[in-house]
Amino acid sequence: MKHIDYKNKKLQFASTDIQAIAQKHKTPFFLYSEEILSKNYLDFYQAAFKAGLHAPLVCFALKSNPNRELLKILAKLGSGADIVSGGELKRALEAGITPDKIVFSGVGKTEEEILFALKTSPQGIFSFNVESLEELELINLCAKKTKRTARVCFRLNPEVQPKTHKHISTGNKTHKFGILQNEILNSLKEKKYWTHSKLVGLSIHIGSQLLDLRATKRALITLSEVALKTNLPLEFLDVGGGLGVDYHPDESPKLPHVNDYMELISSTLNKHFYSKTTLQPRVVFEPGRRIVARAGIFVMKVLRNKVSEDNHFVIVDGGMNDFMRPSLYGAYHHLLPVRESKATKKCHVVGPICETTDCFASGRLMPLLKSGDFLVLMDTGAYGFSMGSNYNLRGRPLELLVDKKRKVKVVNKAQEYDVLL
Ligand SMILES: *Cc1c(COP(=O)(O)O)cnc(C)c1O
Repeated sequence: MKHIDYKNKKLQFASTDIQAIAQKHKTPFFLYSEEILSKNYLDFYQAAFKAGLHAPLVCFALKSNPNRELLKILAKLGSGADIVSGGELKRALEAGITPDKIVFSGVGKTEEEILFALKTSPQGIFSFNVESLEELELINLCAKKTKRTARVCFRLNPEVQPKTHKHISTGNKTHKFGILQNEILNSLKEKKYWTHSKLVGLSIHIGSQLLDLRATKRALITLSEVALKTNLPLEFLDVGGGLGVDYHPDESPKLPHVNDYMELISSTLNKHFYSKTTLQPRVVFEPGRRIVARAGIFVMKVLRNKVSEDNHFVIVDGGMNDFMRPSLYGAYHHLLPVRESKATKKCHVVGPICETTDCFASGRLMPLLKSGDFLVLMDTGAYGFSMGSNYNLRGRPLELLVDKKRKVKVVNKAQEYDVLL
């Protein structure tokens, strides 16, 4: 892990000393790196290009991290946005992402949100990724009201079961996501859906934190077959997001390199789609985690220790309301002390929330930590702040950014009582 390492026993993130930052700011806080974020985005985009994918469009999934400053950085690099609510749409536009690069996902789009998206420009947004025919009917109606033609894309349910946590798997018919291929093909014959809508693409998104790409390949084959069966001049194929990161060291050998991921997409689409048609639809991506997980850490302060016979608890000032993945998914996140010292004792690292699941690590070998020491929870840039809450009436934590010149900037203030209460 080169982006985070010790130098003279002091932990550095993106070549910046964490202790110094932690002494200056209120803990807990998220700390992001512009350099890592930019590199992740560019590596992803360039890998798509190198694999020969046609006019790739990378739509960053805002739900993974909608911080304004991070979005502005991505917008400047040319990123589009994958949004799932009117709030995310507003945020994407404010960050400078233009409507022609925005795809709108999600099973529960409201009329108000659809109208908002249509009115962003004379053409509306790049695409509504439609999840049901009832939704398509509403989009068509809204487009009529706003005197526009809605650009829509069906999210295909490819009926695959990727190997990932059951709560973040989305590509099977038992899941609420996507439409089965017969329903898609039948809808094309029904004029009522298409008076003010135009099918411009087809999409899939089979799950998140994918480390094994076999299900991805199967889904891409189905995507290709259904795209050909539509017999329409589709403008794009949207392959979704979901590429994982190695949160646990055991995951590192399995982690697909972004070049291999792009190669797989390219070779599968070439074989099953491009070789069978004269059409050249561009490829759209919706990555979240892979772009931003590594670009953030969560810094906490040790409040005190507590020993119950064999159980040693290290109590920290960050809680599950700030970072939910361990309590929600049982997710592993690496923990590092800001001052390097040898791990000697198995501990439970727990937060202040009144829930037993408020635990960042259970039985983890840790060094002896005292009140006032700082501890870093790694790879927390994705699904961190965005999933947080005010549970236990705790204010939302501070967000900081190390910019390209290694200057530390506040990119979202901690929520104080005057706002919270
Ligand atoms: C959550 C989501 C994404 C992003 O997933 P990651 O695993 O963060 O890459 C992309 N597309 C859709 C439709 C999603 O729901």
